[in-house]
Amino acid sequence: MTLSLEGRVAIVTGAGAGLGREHALLLARRGAKVVVNDPGGSVNGVGGDESAAAAVVDEIRSAGGTAVANVDSVASEEGAGRIIDAAVQAFGGVHVLVNNAGILRDRSFAKLSLEDFRAVVDVHFWGAVHCTRAVWPILNAQKYGRVVMTTSVSGTSGNFGQSSYGAAKEGVLGLMRALALEGVRNDVLVNAISPGALTRMSGEVAPDDPFMRRLDPALVSPAVAWLASARCDVSATIITAAAGGFGRLHYFETSGVQFDPAAPVTVEMFDAAFARIADLDNAAPTRPGTDGRIMERLDTLADR
Ligand code: NAD
Repeated sequence: MTLSLEGRVAIVTGAGAGLGREHALLLARRGAKVVVNDPGGSVNGVGGDESAAAAVVDEIRSAGGTAVANVDSVASEEGAGRIIDAAVQAFGGVHVLVNNAGILRDRSFAKLSLEDFRAVVDVHFWGAVHCTRAVWPILNAQKYGRVVMTTSVSGTSGNFGQSSYGAAKEGVLGLMRALALEGVRNDVLVNAISPGALTRMSGEVAPDDPFMRRLDPALVSPAVAWLASARCDVSATIITAAAGGFGRLHYFETSGVQFDPAAPVTVEMFDAAFARIADLDNAAPTRPGTDGRIMERLDTLADR
């Protein structure tokens, strides 16, 4: 079955380079009309270069696709509003939002200034909030929408020197889970991609590593295109994608222990049980909602 995005309007933030560029090119090849957003600038988010978005629009048009450029920053509410307006004005609406824009200001937490911390969170986390918030009423009113967040292994597994980045990337997953619950009744599905790709962002980390050279960003985009399509029937799902490999990333909770809640629980009891609490055998995937495994554990008391 050929997957088509004909008739859909897609916004890809940070699409002037790297992964966003590949996502935009693929979405356009599959028939979507694309807003290529990117203010340009350095990997640290300094400066600007309007030619980045324009070049990708030219590429899409030369290949017979349809695209417009937008150079606003996702980091401001007003900028995000103008990005969504660009889609509405050029193409009459919007169906897909890929929150991809990002910057890096790596430093160990002890040395990182709050200004740099905030700048990273402003683009990755607040950028996703602003853009999704601006598009949310449109998607819900038309009872169709696909939102793709971009997370990172730096958030889900942690990476030295990337406290701001990791926090922001984990933040978009919390956003995704709540919005998935709020949007599903209107067929507005919210998922995330956790990519690995050789771009200027990762290139700074290890430019000559042979493993890194396999990480063509184009190999990530098919997952994004699927999540952006009507074929996608999942929400709150995190897809890992790198070097042609794909997986699903999910949180699990251990079966843990259950003490009698009618009696005091001491620190010593917790201490004695800690190995069983932390034991990953019998861990189960977390489910939507706030119950976790509370009821399941309490039920084990009734069995005793
Ligand atoms: P990249 O630097 O090539 O692309 C990021 C793009 O975002 C740039 O074109 C940049 O101009 C744009 N951008 C920066 N600030 C912006 C703003 N305020 N508003 C709009 N656009 C802005 O890096 P990339 O590797 O292609 O990263 C794309 C996304 O994938 C990022 O969210 C990144 O965190 C994530 N990611 C990348 C990797 C990887 O291995 N490359 C791994 C995990 C996550």
